[in-house]
Amino acid sequence: SDASSTEKVNLPNGKTLTVYTGLFINNKFVESVDGRRFETIDPATEKPIVNVAEGTAADIDVAVDAASEAFEKVWQHVDGKARGRLLYKLTDLLMRDREELGYLEALDTGKPIKSATGDVEDAVDVLRYYAGWADKIHGKVIETSHDKFCYTRHEPFGVVGQIIPWNYPISMLSWKLGPALACGNTIVLKPAEQTPLSALKTASLIREAGFPPGVVNIVPGYGHTAGAAIANHMKIAKVAFTGSTTVGRSILKAAAESNLKKVTLELGGKSPNIIFEDADLGQAIKWAHNGVFSNAGQNCCAGSRVYVQDTVYNEFIEKYKEFALSKKIGSQFEPGVNQGPQISKVQFDRIMEYIQAGKSEGAKLILGGDRHGTEGYFIQQTMFTDVNENMKIMQEEIFGPVVAIAKFKTVEEVIEKAHLTKYGLAAAVFTKDITRAIKISNALKAGTVWVNCYNQVNCNTPFGGFKESGHGRELGKYALANYTEVKTVQINLGK
Ligand code: NAD
Repeated sequence: SDASSTEKVNLPNGKTLTVYTGLFINNKFVESVDGRRFETIDPATEKPIVNVAEGTAADIDVAVDAASEAFEKVWQHVDGKARGRLLYKLTDLLMRDREELGYLEALDTGKPIKSATGDVEDAVDVLRYYAGWADKIHGKVIETSHDKFCYTRHEPFGVVGQIIPWNYPISMLSWKLGPALACGNTIVLKPAEQTPLSALKTASLIREAGFPPGVVNIVPGYGHTAGAAIANHMKIAKVAFTGSTTVGRSILKAAAESNLKKVTLELGGKSPNIIFEDADLGQAIKWAHNGVFSNAGQNCCAGSRVYVQDTVYNEFIEKYKEFALSKKIGSQFEPGVNQGPQISKVQFDRIMEYIQAGKSEGAKLILGGDRHGTEGYFIQQTMFTDVNENMKIMQEEIFGPVVAIAKFKTVEEVIEKAHLTKYGLAAAVFTKDITRAIKISNALKAGTVWVNCYNQVNCNTPFGGFKESGHGRELGKYALANYTEVKTVQINLGK
């Protein structure tokens, strides 16, 4: 029974949630091998929510064995149509429980309840999209010569490992589970230690939907133990990771030094957002604000370097500041809140250090720059101007509500500056001149370019990074290639 693995949690708004706290292996919630547990914290109050079972390498071994047996004995014989039906069933259950999942996600991440519920709905879109793909994954017949017959098969890897971050826990879960299951793999997934709760609740729905035991295993735990065990595992054929560039590098190394497992990586960014004088300034401000301050800046594609053409620079800054001041910071369940706390004390301290660095490197602080309130990991919306490309706040991913605004004159100058980064996840350009928009989109070295908008990501549009922002593309049809091996079969019809 799950009795020992659930707890009741009371929310500030009077609701009570049932929270799953075990490791999910073979469709059961279990304790970890060594019985360890760790706290997950509400970042708005700094208080613990519950203790969750802590998986380590030994638990990853158990989960991989379960996933491996499920693949060999059951899942590889389940056809695409049936896999699709199970995924659709899961999305029905997620929709049934979306309010509860939204509350759980809001509680664990600190994000406003409206955003959290939106994330649940986005996750459903992604899973539905891949449910539709499950029976449309197939190879080709390739003509070689008249006495030969050649075809390809797109086969699942078997067991895949997935490691996800805390900024969009349930969305990241869906980006990982959807294509891997549609393609017929079994899974060992580690949620971030800061935010295991929505993944465990989803695990209960995976079981309820009727997925066979061992097809999806969810093992909360820390990165250097459980995460590293996935990256190093000899029986995991592929690993998908979203998180920091530093850890992404260590995963690639672990893959190289273990079994050369295939790796996809979604990593950090320092995305430029370029605003020309002919842009609709009101729109540009709205999107530029959303671009960096949404999710309290904890967004891998955050447009944290804003370049504004000199002729509209002063006007932009005044109005941008005014727009920011109309936004409300507060805890998840307060009505009308736009920005919640940072995820943890560690992240809070890291961001405050960046703000300090900005000040001491001579950037001009025009808004914020301090903590918000006295309880919870809240940080004020912070804006720097008078920045240059050598400053730390222009080079490193801050992952908080901090924007650096720079001035430019010409197209050539701004493209050159936009490229002065090791990252290449996203970029944006605001202009009414279609020719300029297209030419700049072509020139920018980024996996996604937005024109006159920001942060637009759809279940069917590929997403991923150039340069040190990652390997491979998630979402859309492109993601299917991450979860299949191509086999060529050559048949001789002659002598
Ligand atoms: P992180 O990269 O350490 O954590 C992401 C995931 O990787 C978590 O599940 C974590 O447990 C796991 N992990 C950590 N070390 C690991 C290891 N050695 N082997 C395998 N897995 C491991 O990120 P963080 O420390 O939580 O945040 C630090 C910075 O990373 C942030 O400030 C931000 O710049 C960046 N970040 C980016 C994203 C993104 O969406 N691209 C998400 C979260 C964090």
